[in-house]
Amino acid sequence: MRAPRVYKTEAIVLKQSKLGEADRIITCYTPYLGKMRGVAKGVRRPGSRLSGHLEPFTHTSLMLAQGQNLDVITQAQTIEGFWPLRQDLRRMSLALYAVELVERFTSEGLENPGLFRLFSAMLHLLGQAEDPESALRFFEVQLLERLGYRPHLDSCLRCGRAPASGGNYFSPSAGGLLCPFCRSEEPIVYPLSVAALQWLRRLQAVDIAEMDSLKIPQPQLKELALRAREYIRYLLEQEIKSAAFVEMLHQEEGRSRAR
Ligand SMILES: [Zn+2]
Repeated sequence: MRAPRVYKTEAIVLKQSKLGEADRIITCYTPYLGKMRGVAKGVRRPGSRLSGHLEPFTHTSLMLAQGQNLDVITQAQTIEGFWPLRQDLRRMSLALYAVELVERFTSEGLENPGLFRLFSAMLHLLGQAEDPESALRFFEVQLLERLGYRPHLDSCLRCGRAPASGGNYFSPSAGGLLCPFCRSEEPIVYPLSVAALQWLRRLQAVDIAEMDSLKIPQPQLKELALRAREYIRYLLEQEIKSAAFVEMLHQEEGRSRAR
């Protein structure tokens, strides 16, 4: 469907880049237009009416006019600024990672309102959850699910056996679980403990409303973060840049706690 000349959409801002003297290109995620880019004119000049409503991960309401190349953002009004995220470096780094995941995994013009709702609920949760890291693991699992990359975890992908009780393997290329007998069937596999597998399956099944109270124990949290990173790297054929930043902050925190 061709968009009308002037149109309105909800959007979550993913990133900004400079354009010319005073403009910016805003990349955002929308419920029905998928990922999209628009030009915000004059937004780098002091006193711009748009600028405060187009910061990364702001949930905003946009009015756009069709342009020759990129559409032009004529109005922007913040729906939610997610302020708790902006006041806490740790939470903000997790949100930036979530934003980068959405930015990398989605395409322009491909609608996915369910993913949009998940993303907006997630930013909310990252700002207030007692354990935002557990919430982020949930987001990875659910994002992959909504994009058609749900890993198969119920049985071994090769032989169909139930998961072994002593631990199994995860294969990014096969997209799921391999038992100890079949692990050598895939070139690259990573160990997956029984406890981490249970958590993964739980994260596939729970609703976001329940995530407020879920806290994944530290060892499994770490294991799931690694498995997600490997799987995502395989799917995207590249690293998520902000993952390294999250990891660095985590190590800094660990060091300052040890002092
Ligand atoms: Zn097997």
